Amino acid sequence: MTAIGEYGDAPVVTRFAPSPTGYLHLGHAYAAFFARRAALGPGGRFLVRIEDIDSGRCRTQFEDAIFGDLAWLGLRWEEPVRRQSAHLEDYEKALRQLEEEGLVYPCFCTRKEIAGEIARAGAAPHGPEGPVYPGICRRLSRAERARRVREGTAHALRLDMGAAVRRAGRLQWRDRERGVVEARPETLGDVVLARKEVPTSYHLSVTLDDALQGVTLVTRGEDLFESTHVHRLLLELLGLPVPEWHHHHLVMDAEGRRFSKRDESVTLRALRAAGRSAESVREELGFGAS
Ligand code: GLU
Repeated sequence: MTAIGEYGDAPVVTRFAPSPTGYLHLGHAYAAFFARRAALGPGGRFLVRIEDIDSGRCRTQFEDAIFGDLAWLGLRWEEPVRRQSAHLEDYEKALRQLEEEGLVYPCFCTRKEIAGEIARAGAAPHGPEGPVYPGICRRLSRAERARRVREGTAHALRLDMGAAVRRAGRLQWRDRERGVVEARPETLGDVVLARKEVPTSYHLSVTLDDALQGVTLVTRGEDLFESTHVHRLLLELLGLPVPEWHHHHLVMDAEGRRFSKRDESVTLRALRAAGRSAESVREELGFGAS
């Protein structure tokens, strides 16, 4: 069993890592304050990272607004800010490492083919993020894979979860809310590490960035809790240091629903335009004194 929370007593480094696909809302403000507060101790550092690998959905206009909104909230962060789109070579290097160890395979499937295979099989194991990929391309021969790649067929890269788990062995991670957690990444199946149109994925880039930036405490909403099993595994496979995690509750609206980027009325810009002060937002979210 390998170590968990390997940063020990080092000063806390946290980050707020939004994707510029819309304006920030109260849920983001909560996440940002939460990360900032966790890093308030001696030597603590608070980073902001722009998660902009999805070039089809990210907009500079939203990125500019993120910085404007965070400054309005009274937050300060370190410069330079890491933008994922500027570091694609880091993700490619990690992918090559996993490929060389035979832990990654090309997947040529379309969404339709995957759905068809699941329907044919009658049932597919259901993971926390939906039906688990049924492994169609994992079963292709080496020659067939090479032929399709040579022909230029668009493909994603998937982690061979079975092989990865066998390689890594039993793993644990520590969540500040839930304590020591047994990693069970296999429930998510052969996750995508590089998409057809982007040479990385959420799982790969977030894991690598947190390690490269020396983040010691990953704070984020509990909706991403299950992903952490995969991130813990990737850290192990790539030989990277293991942080601690703190998955926090999600801020809900008056009807008990999660805020979404589509709810224009609760964006920080809308609140500001309606005359709300940053201080009152802070207080509402429970960060008045920090
Ligand atoms: N970029 C992700 C989001 O906006 C958060 C990443 C993370 O905290 O792991 O939801």
